[in-house]
Amino acid sequence: MDYDVLVIGAGPGGYHAAIRAAQLGLKTAVAEMGAVGGVCLNVGCIPTKALLHAGEQMAESKHAREFGLTFNETKLDVSKLNSWKEGIVKRLTGGVSSLLKGNKVTVVTGEAKFIDANTVQVGDQKVTAKNIIIATGSEPATLPTFPIDQKDIVDSTGALVVPDPIPGRVLCIGGGVIGFEFAHVYNNLGSKVKVIEFAPQVIPGADADATKEFVKAIKKQGIEIEVRTKANSFEKKEDGLHVEIESVETGAKRTEVFDRVLVAVGRRPRSRGMNLENVGVKISDRGFIEVNDKLQTSVPHIYAIGDVAGNPMLAHKAMKEGLVAAEVIAGKKSAMDVVAIPGVVYTSPEFAWVGLTEQEAKDKGYKVKTGVFPFAASGRAMTLQSTDGFVKMVSDAETDLLLGVHIVGPHASDMLGEASLGLEMAATVSDIALTIHAHPTLGEAVLEAAEHVHRQAIHIS
Ligand code: FAD
Repeated sequence: MDYDVLVIGAGPGGYHAAIRAAQLGLKTAVAEMGAVGGVCLNVGCIPTKALLHAGEQMAESKHAREFGLTFNETKLDVSKLNSWKEGIVKRLTGGVSSLLKGNKVTVVTGEAKFIDANTVQVGDQKVTAKNIIIATGSEPATLPTFPIDQKDIVDSTGALVVPDPIPGRVLCIGGGVIGFEFAHVYNNLGSKVKVIEFAPQVIPGADADATKEFVKAIKKQGIEIEVRTKANSFEKKEDGLHVEIESVETGAKRTEVFDRVLVAVGRRPRSRGMNLENVGVKISDRGFIEVNDKLQTSVPHIYAIGDVAGNPMLAHKAMKEGLVAAEVIAGKKSAMDVVAIPGVVYTSPEFAWVGLTEQEAKDKGYKVKTGVFPFAASGRAMTLQSTDGFVKMVSDAETDLLLGVHIVGPHASDMLGEASLGLEMAATVSDIALTIHAHPTLGEAVLEAAEHVHRQAIHIS
């Protein structure tokens, strides 16, 4: 065999797996047909955050008037914005290439296809390996009536290239995490944005109260949001894209005109076209490769991690699974045994959650007690001009066990670390309430939400 481990795909899951395998003394190669870093670094997590930051700076330049700071006209050089964003991507993907090289991981360029259970054709090269980790990720789901041309009708990859001039009216089909991040970017850059969602709630699966709080804050910024709504078709005319929009409840149809349509209706796993069926790797009806808690597929020496191995399709879940798969191959006692995987919408305010929603906790039979602390009562939030949102804590009334934390607010993603650690360590609400949090910080809102579970918060009743 050429290698102990061959990883297919060098996204966050794949490169974590490859580096950990090499660290554990295994001879490792990665096959990559696109760019090292995968979706996350090239067309996902990182470039979106760069655009979100740029948009927020534009919005903040207006908010500064409140404390007497005024600028001459705020102007955006779109080509500089796009190249700045690309520069960050380049730095990070270059960093991953160096890490792979530094750990003596061989990168084989080309599309990988299985020949047999230990042999993979990568471009024009045949590679054999004792163990194979599939980390091929996912791609945007499409709508047949809105074919992507990356100009008028874009997917998330097309939306990352900001056009000049900024489109006047943008329709975002899909009110999930990706849809809202782009809605926020384009709204801050000056577009009039509408988000439509088929389901009764945007950010499906998130806590209902927290989602309402999030929607309230986002609507205040001028983004229109309609649920139980779908886009049927469009016609390109001189004055723009005439989109037929339909109410799912009443069936009422209308036409609205936009300059750009973003299709953000989810992602599908990239499990096809690798001859997996021929080597006996089982794929679910939804296209995910089926794995056990050690990330082994139905063929025990073939593993699958990241987006291709199931929901949630998130980089940090892919990274963790990459480490686990490599450790299992190296003979370590490792398994994917996590209490909760955090989720974040990186808008402003951010929306971040970990653990059970109130409804999920009730459905599991817990006697639920919640605590809420609004950022409107936080001194730190006031100094940051960011008082929208709250921290909501979900707990078990009988044992005081922390079950979930849902934050809409400034830097919610960074505050979530405390909640994730709490859940993993089986913390009680009292553990958080008894911990001194620095003052003045946003984290005090987490402390006060915990105190509020016991109806003992100082700054709210
Ligand atoms: P991927 O990153 O998809 O990488 C798979 C790699 O495999 C690719 O490089 C591909 O070229 C390669 N490949 C595929 N098939 C083959 C083959 N047959 N042969 C060789 N190579 C192959 N997640 C977060 O956690 N936080 C965020 O903020 C976030 N923001 C996002 C924003 C956007 C716009 C998008 C689209 C996604 C975002 N995600 C985010 C999701 C995140 O990008 C994915 O969950 C993550 O990239 C999955 O990692 P992966 O390793 O499973 O696969």
